[in-house]
Amino acid sequence: MADWNRLFATRMGEVVASDIRERMKLLQAGQIIHLGGGLPDPDIFPYAALAEASARIWSDPALARTALQYAPSEGHAALRAWIADYMTGIGAPCDPDNILITNGSQQGLDFVAKLLLSPGDKAMVEVPSFIGALRAFDAYEPVYAAYPGGNPVGAKFCYVGPDFRNPTGTTMTLEEREELLDLAAGNGMAILEDGCYERLRYDGAPLPSLLAMAIARHGSIEDTPVLHTGTFSKTIAPSLRVGWIAGPAAAIRKLVLIKQASDLATSALNQMLLLEVVRSQLAAATETACAVYRERRDSMLAALAEHMPQGVRWTRPEGGLYIWVELPKQLDATLLTQRALAEEGVSAIAGAAFYPRGVPAERNTLRLSFSMIDSEPAREGVARLGALVREMLQSTAAVTAISSA
Ligand code: PMP
Repeated sequence: MADWNRLFATRMGEVVASDIRERMKLLQAGQIIHLGGGLPDPDIFPYAALAEASARIWSDPALARTALQYAPSEGHAALRAWIADYMTGIGAPCDPDNILITNGSQQGLDFVAKLLLSPGDKAMVEVPSFIGALRAFDAYEPVYAAYPGGNPVGAKFCYVGPDFRNPTGTTMTLEEREELLDLAAGNGMAILEDGCYERLRYDGAPLPSLLAMAIARHGSIEDTPVLHTGTFSKTIAPSLRVGWIAGPAAAIRKLVLIKQASDLATSALNQMLLLEVVRSQLAAATETACAVYRERRDSMLAALAEHMPQGVRWTRPEGGLYIWVELPKQLDATLLTQRALAEEGVSAIAGAAFYPRGVPAERNTLRLSFSMIDSEPAREGVARLGALVREMLQSTAAVTAISSA
């Protein structure tokens, strides 16, 4: 029998299964109130528009031939041009040469790490950070420094999700964005800006992206240190797996080589479908998503206010899909989420999963998502979680009383 453990590359020693993906397998099995996850709601995907786009492509032989052929590695030309115009429209003027189409923005995060990290290089990452980004970076064997607060000297890049972060739901202020641009300039590091949720704002005024701010500082995208990842997963549908990286053409040209070596190209059919749909529907689809998720955010915030005991705190996101809950220091959220699933049929994700290797985790934190849950089940789930927190607080108080007696 082959000894696979001997054959695995050293980088695989660093790779661990995502707690969230593992848990999603469990969730498919039973009746669980799902406060974890964070999938976009399939009820709001634009099915009719996609069906029409698909019919148009198949009924035109020239389009059909292109749709089934390999696409260029850099992406379907018309979609690249559309994204360049879209980025220009949101304050980051650029050309199609500044865009690489990727299989979702997840592939963009992987490719940027592949572009910049040799084993042992330093990567700065927000703490806590999007788990998918951490797992992608892990494979390039970096050492991590926490942002903010860690030592930026020698870091190749700093990874941030400025708007409605996954997992905390918080947003970088304008001042924090300016400071990060200064820090990057002062240390010669790149910025990897994850724009996954930037269109999902429910209240407050939009802030410029780091890419837009860097272009304003330097006069041209070519002189900026920023690579920005974008996606249609949260506004149109994730299964089409179409995202992009926007940045200086010199970096994009290298990333095209990585794309070629990795999977040649993103599906031409999916890119063409998306282009047809975003041309006419992006504004309406974004509006629908914002209306649905705003309401769900509000119900989950109301449920937290109603059911969480004193001493529990949480964020109030202006957009995105997540709320970050901080329990009193003495509680372990990993234990809470295990008990919630086993005893109460409620899933939530313990915060420890969102910390990079080598950076101590805040063990009293957890991430909730409101993306897929209506107000009634949200209330019920949060009520069960709140009751468990109360019980755990009482038993830690009892243990403290006994041990100090
Ligand atoms: N960035 C963040 C912060 C995410 O939460 C996700 C997925 N939920 C992604 C990137 C990747 O999304 P996709 O590959 O579908 O664009």
